[in-house]
Amino acid sequence: MRSVGVCFVLICSFASVTLAQTSTPPPGNGSGQSLPALDHFDAGKVDSSVDPCTDFYQYSCNRWIKDNPVPPDEIFWGAFGKLRFWNEAVLHQTLLEIAGKPAAERTPLEQKLGDYWTACLDEKQRNQTALDTLRPALDRIDHMRDKAEIAEVVAELHLSVNGAWNPSDPETYAALFGFGAQPDFHDTTKVIPQFDQGGMGLPEKGFYLETDAKSQAILKEYVAHIARTLELSGEPPAKAQTAAQAVLNMETAMAKSAMDVVKRRDPRNLDNEMSLAEVEKLAPDFDFARYLERVNAPASSKFIVTTPDFFRGLERLITDEPLDHWKAYLKWQLLAGSAPQMSDDFVQEDFEFVGKTLFGAKQLLPLWRRCVQAEDRDLGQALGQAYVARVFPAASKEQVKQLVGNIEAALSADIDASDWMSPETKKQAHVKLAMQIDKIGYPDHWRDYSALEIRPDNHLENVRRAAAFEFHRQMRKIGKPLDRTEWTMTPPTVNAYEDAQTNTINFPAGILEPPFFDPTRDDSVNYGAIGAVIGHETIHGFDDQGRKFDENGNLRDWWTSTDAEAYEKRGDCIAEEYTEFVPEAGIQQNGRLTQGENTGDNGGIHLALSALDADLKAKGGTLASKGEDGLTALQRFFLAYAGIWCSNVHPEMMRTLLLMDPHPLNKYRVNNVVSNMPEFAQAFSCHKGQPMVRKNVCRVW
Ligand SMILES: [Zn+2]
Repeated sequence: MRSVGVCFVLICSFASVTLAQTSTPPPGNGSGQSLPALDHFDAGKVDSSVDPCTDFYQYSCNRWIKDNPVPPDEIFWGAFGKLRFWNEAVLHQTLLEIAGKPAAERTPLEQKLGDYWTACLDEKQRNQTALDTLRPALDRIDHMRDKAEIAEVVAELHLSVNGAWNPSDPETYAALFGFGAQPDFHDTTKVIPQFDQGGMGLPEKGFYLETDAKSQAILKEYVAHIARTLELSGEPPAKAQTAAQAVLNMETAMAKSAMDVVKRRDPRNLDNEMSLAEVEKLAPDFDFARYLERVNAPASSKFIVTTPDFFRGLERLITDEPLDHWKAYLKWQLLAGSAPQMSDDFVQEDFEFVGKTLFGAKQLLPLWRRCVQAEDRDLGQALGQAYVARVFPAASKEQVKQLVGNIEAALSADIDASDWMSPETKKQAHVKLAMQIDKIGYPDHWRDYSALEIRPDNHLENVRRAAAFEFHRQMRKIGKPLDRTEWTMTPPTVNAYEDAQTNTINFPAGILEPPFFDPTRDDSVNYGAIGAVIGHETIHGFDDQGRKFDENGNLRDWWTSTDAEAYEKRGDCIAEEYTEFVPEAGIQQNGRLTQGENTGDNGGIHLALSALDADLKAKGGTLASKGEDGLTALQRFFLAYAGIWCSNVHPEMMRTLLLMDPHPLNKYRVNNVVSNMPEFAQAFSCHKGQPMVRKNVCRVW
């Protein structure tokens, strides 16, 4: 149960820019290559033709929006994406240097980093070897004699395509279902196996079930894409066409028995513990014992099954669908999960549907960026060490640590000051806050990759071995105590997260750079930008999802019923406020889906502001103190906050986000938040009746 951070993972994975001076330099040509410029806070860049009290997002971002169109290989473009591009350029420089070193001078880690890079970039080798590499796995599926073998094939796919299942990462590919290691909901000292729904190629169940014209058009494109992909693997066109339709029918059936994104937000809906015998009863024709043996899962007396209905649905699919349909489905899962790491024809076909049709990108990312991203996924903690050494000084870590401490102190004071919580609940909230672990920059102990073999001559084999390495690493956690120090994001990631079960907040070094954290700017700017992000993650532990977990990460109700009721009422106000029609996308934003994020945004900025206030006072200043630009600290704080959300997004992507992303669109992250704050009205002298002064103010924290 992870509330993944302030930036949606799917956006980040596509986020980039193609600048003329840095696009696709030839491999090995690393010397003297300069990094792109980072954005720094600039209060002069507002649109003075807009009244901040009418539309603060437009006032703060119009000029940025005009100057920063979505690059052709992007689907979404904002501060997160620009910093991500900078981080990738840093990693690129590092990898070019390592790959250029003579073999004898490399450390064992550099051998892996360098050889992965060399193989990934070698398009000639990828074009020659990718399909052959996959051939034994494709043959294995072709040679299936009956449906009893499904379990074994699924296990092989799980061990070779994208590795471990991460339920909070929609990019994770898991044929048929997800399987991984998760803390026990009621005793987080124990890690137990978990079965989760999965197996669908489209991002959310709604994509299969909506009947409007746009949804139907996407489904038609999807079938054509499946058919073309199967053809590329050698299926005759007519057979591929029939197989594609069968795949869509099977995935649609899975979608019907899957739990939707809103229901999944309540951990109590996912809390189903079962014995293996009970799991087997859900789908008697799936050989769970064989699957578990094949993936080398340690024995366990308990399993979490997040969505039992989904597994009951699988049983129907196994009984109803003929073996040929199953072969088509399993082949499609293998090919779809491998395509981005294969030869040009597969890469391009994958991009045409996923990149263009689903998300609206115009052009494929250059190869070097795709390789940096693949390497960050497969060797992220090895690459992350080099990243940290290059751009994340100890002084930054120290400064951020202080910010986090000040913001947590603000939450502590906020709990004390709240007039709607009883002393008992307040006491429990304090206990939980005190137990929270703050992780900043990078892990204390780096992952050991020595058992992972990486060679310079076959990229897809490296990727498949990395997937197996990760899956086995997850399996080894089962039955062992929970490691609260582990990171689920790599150090160069431009994101942050709170994890309710480990009771941690995590800020990778990748987001601790301008314009989020900027040592060249004053406190008001840093509290407005990274401070609001820190506040957001801190509040996640106390949002409508996080509040259901206690100080040890256990799913336990520590609220008195009256306080819980008061909380829900406040939460409803937020959910209703954010439920509104988005004209650019033609659909509604779902305030229930975004409730946790909205709570984090609204509460987080309050914490950041009180911490700034206290910090300024301690240094002899006030929020009203003016800087050289003539703006007060309070004004700079709000402008810095808006600045991190300035963005451009394609309508296709906007629609996809509204259907599945628990984060609201960026414009609402600014305007809804500030219009709930009297401090904002004060900063920009807004008065009652203006759009940025809300009649019905919502506040949880
Ligand atoms: Zn969040």
